[in-house]
Amino acid sequence: MFPPLIEDLIESYAQLPGIGRKSAERIAFHILDNMPKESVIEMTNKILVAKDNICFCPVCQNLTDVTPCRICSSSKRDNSIICVVENPKDVIAIEKTKEYNGLYHVLHGALSPMDGISPDDLKINELLLRLDSNVKEIIMATNPTVSGTATAVYLSKLIAPMGVKVTRIAHGIPVGGDLEYADEITLIKALEGRQNM
Ligand code: ZN
Repeated sequence: MFPPLIEDLIESYAQLPGIGRKSAERIAFHILDNMPKESVIEMTNKILVAKDNICFCPVCQNLTDVTPCRICSSSKRDNSIICVVENPKDVIAIEKTKEYNGLYHVLHGALSPMDGISPDDLKINELLLRLDSNVKEIIMATNPTVSGTATAVYLSKLIAPMGVKVTRIAHGIPVGGDLEYADEITLIKALEGRQNM
């Protein structure tokens, strides 16, 4: 339907999350038809510079441009609590509430045997390595989906025997919901209502 070069461009945009075929076509044609070449170069460079300079924090595994990240290296954060989340965007969602002052750990996914995602595919060993005598509580803030809940249960079975209190965010987040789409009040309620696992 389109010349191969345009079709390639559309297909690469269609791979992005939340971008369907129609949106991918709109973006591709906007770039080709409306954007000056300098703007295209600038946008492409921004992607490359970000990709080259953003890495995983060696401590919490969140995306960062400094190591350790600003949260891990802050003296104002309570390093006795670690909040475990699935994705970097969940950290942003919880930070926006301004109600949580502990540290984070980003798993980069959730257990899902159906999709072939096993414990080795997540940043679980990196979490276990952080559990020294300073750490008093681990908050499981994985999504309240089947895989998020399975991940929380799996981790609590690993961690609770090590003598660390494990809690789970409770009320507010709808079952099957996604943390990153929850409003701030809902998230605050969920954190406040966390329960022992
Ligand atoms: Zn960090």
